[in-house]
Amino acid sequence: MNSSSARTEFELIHAIARHVKPSAQVPIGIGDDAAVIAPTPNQHLVTTTDSLVLGRHFTSDWTAHDIGHLAMAVNLSDLAAMAAKPRWALLNMTLPKDSVYATQAWLDEFMQGFLSLDDGLVLVGGNLSEGPLNIGVVLIGEVMPDQAITRSGTQVGDLLVLTGTLGDAAAALSRPVDNAPFGLALRQRLHRPTPRLLAGQHAAGHVHAMIDVSDGLLADLSHLLHAATRDSATPPLGAEIELQKLPTSKAMKAMGFSEAERWNLQLSGGNDYELLMSVQPSSLTPLLADLQLANTDATVIGQVTSGGEILVLDEHGGHFVPAKRGWDHFQETADE
Ligand SMILES: [Mg+2]
Repeated sequence: MNSSSARTEFELIHAIARHVKPSAQVPIGIGDDAAVIAPTPNQHLVTTTDSLVLGRHFTSDWTAHDIGHLAMAVNLSDLAAMAAKPRWALLNMTLPKDSVYATQAWLDEFMQGFLSLDDGLVLVGGNLSEGPLNIGVVLIGEVMPDQAITRSGTQVGDLLVLTGTLGDAAAALSRPVDNAPFGLALRQRLHRPTPRLLAGQHAAGHVHAMIDVSDGLLADLSHLLHAATRDSATPPLGAEIELQKLPTSKAMKAMGFSEAERWNLQLSGGNDYELLMSVQPSSLTPLLADLQLANTDATVIGQVTSGGEILVLDEHGGHFVPAKRGWDHFQETADE
C-alpha cells in the first residue's frame, strides 16, 4: 500500500495479527521482514498454495467468515490429500482501497473463519497490497519421511473409495436454495467445506494413491489415473464408476433433481473437497476401519481398469454420458 495509507495498513495488519497465538515453533512471526519457523526434527515439509478470486470462487454476498473459511479449506484439502499435518500459513491479500474488505471489522471476521479449521496451524506472515480483491494462501505441513501419499501408484483392480458425499456444493450453485435445513446444509457445503485432514492421515498406509476432489469427480479421477502411468510407457488406466453407489446426502436427495441432473452435479460439479483413494481390495476393510476412527464415512464407488477410459455405469450396466467432464480453469468453453 502507498505511504498515505500506511497507518491504515498497520491497523489492518494488527486486525490480522491479533488472532495469532505465539508458538515455540515460530521463533520469529508476523511483523519482521520474514518469518522464521522451526520444523519438527525428522519430518519432511509439504507445501501448497491456492488463491481465491472474487466472482470465480466466491461472490460479494458471502460473509467474511465464509471467505476466510474457504481460503483455508481449499489449501488444507490439498495437504489432506498428501496425508500431511498442517503447521504454518502465509496469507497474501490484495484489498481494494476504501472498500468493506479493507476494514478491521471485515478482516476480524475473515480471520475467525480462516483460523477456525485447525488448532495446530499458525499464521506466520504474509503481505497486504491494494488492488482488486485477491486472497492467496501458502500452507506448510509436515509428514514423516516417505509417508506422503501421492497421486501416482494406482493399479488395475484397485477399488476407488470416496469420503463423504458428492454434489452438495454444486447443487447449491445450480439453483437458489432456501433457508430451510436442507437448503442451509447444501450452502454450508459450498461456503464452508470440510477438508478431510484426519481421514487423509488415517488413509496413509492403506492406499496406493490419493487426490482431493475439487474440480469434479471425473476430472480428479482422470488426474489420478494419468498420474499412475505418467513416467512409463504403460498405457493409461481406466475406471468404471457405478452411479448407484455415488454417496448422496439427504439434503441433495430432497432437492427434487432428476437422476441425470443429480448424477451430473455429482460427477462434474466440483467444490466437494472430499478425498478419492485407490486401494487394493485386500486393504479395503482396514482402510474403512481406520477412516471410522477419523469419524469419516467412505464409499466404494467403482474400480480401476486397464481400459484407458472412464465408464460411468447405471444399475443395468448401461453407459451414462455426463454433460461435462469437470472443471478446467483454462478451458471454460468445454465446461460451461
Ligand atoms: Mg488438490
